[in-house]
Amino acid sequence: MTPTLPTCASCASALTWKEALFMQRFLQNHNRCPRCGAVQYIKTRKPALFVTVIMAVSPLTVNLFTEVTIPLAIVLYTILIPLLVTVSPFTYELSDDDPLMKS
Ligand SMILES: [Zn+2]
Repeated sequence: MTPTLPTCASCASALTWKEALFMQRFLQNHNRCPRCGAVQYIKTRKPALFVTVIMAVSPLTVNLFTEVTIPLAIVLYTILIPLLVTVSPFTYELSDDDPLMKS
């Protein structure tokens, strides 16, 4: 799995990291391409989603084996959250078809 930024399925232009970051909507599954304006549906890559979830729960997992104090947990999440935001543009791809409308 190589980290690649999403490409618009309509105009085939690759988004920049910043465009890809703002393209993500957490309440909707689609957004418009910043280049051509076509509606693009966000399709999360399964392995990337898996890695993201593992990273997000890792401080809790560590807590199973050794005592993680609250200040340490705060430090871990202070590192982890910007890291997750940084990698988030690599975790999805764009599609012309609404994945929820598949019959
Ligand atoms: Zn486009």
